[in-house]
Parts: sequence; structure tokens; C-alpha cells
Amino acid sequence: MGDVQVLGVVSRDGAAPRVAYLDQPMAATPEILELAAPVAVSEIFRLSARCEESKCMHFDGTRCQLAVRIASLLPEVVDALPACNIRPDCRWFRQEGRAACMRCPQIVTGNAEADDLLQRVSGMPKPGEAPPGWSAGPGAEHAARDHAAATQLISTSNGPCQGETQTKLRAGGSLGK
Ligand code: SF4
Repeated sequence: MGDVQVLGVVSRDGAAPRVAYLDQPMAATPEILELAAPVAVSEIFRLSARCEESKCMHFDGTRCQLAVRIASLLPEVVDALPACNIRPDCRWFRQEGRAACMRCPQIVTGNAEADDLLQRVSGMPKPGEAPPGWSAGPGAEHAARDHAAATQLISTSNGPCQGETQTKLRAGGSLGK
């Protein structure tokens, strides 16, 4: 992941986790991330990073399918656009518009209690099962390897993407909104 920033802080005051977005961009430095200890960084911080396009399991060559699933499968959880400092550069917003933003605060990278719907949206495979679009090799060994690799990809690409890709999209790419 490149250009990693802290997008927000996860609040667990309510019935389900919600992201409280930072007013200002903040680089995800080791010193900042250490503040999450002793729990996992992903349980405390929502991170954003530059879109990796073809290196990411969610990218189908033209669109981020994670953003598609978020906008089409999840319920809205806010009444107005969240105050989010990366909106001008957010791939999810550029691709799915406000539909992504109205659902975005429920997306938490580290959510051990994720229900079936959130797991489906994340593309997270069940043990022994390949994620959507993932080509599992033959045999249990390949399936286990693919599952581990897919889980790693999910854990490192579950946030909105920003950066050079958005410049391309703004210039008239097929994802532009
Ligand atoms: S979808 Fe992007 S712009 Fe919208 S709230 Fe989430 S991170 Fe911000």
C-alpha cells in the first residue's frame, strides 16, 4: 500500500462500529499507528491508501468491485455526506458517488464481528472457499494458499483508494463521476 493515511477513528459506542472521519489528512506513521496498541491498528484506525488497481483483488480491470458491493448491498447509515477529507481523491466516491459515502462509516478494516453481509461485501472468503473472482488452484494446499493470500489482500486494500488513479478518472476514465 502506498500513501497510507489515517482516514478516521473507529467508534464502538453504538450497536455497531462507526468511523469518525478526521478533519485533516494524517500520515499513518509508525508513531501514530503505535497508539492503537495493545489492540490491532485496524480495530482503531480506518486507513486509506493509493489504489493499487490490478494488484488488488477487488479491481476488475475497470472498476473497484468492493465499492460496487458497498454501494449496492449495504444499507445507508448516515443522513448526509460525512465530513471526509479525502472525498476529492476518493475512488469509491468517484465511482459510486454519494451512495458510497452514505454507507462508508460502517466499513471497518478490522471487524472480528462482521456479519455475513459485511463479509460478503468485503469479498472475504470463508475457510476453504475462494473469494469472488479468485482463481483457486487445484487441491487443498492451493486452496489454503489462495485463502491466505486473499485474506492478506483484503486486510491491505479494504479502505478507499486515492492518488494517481483519481487523476486518471477525473481525466475521463470510465469510472468518473
Ligand atoms: S466513500 Fe470516500 S469520500 Fe465517501 S466518506 Fe468514504 S472515504 Fe470519504
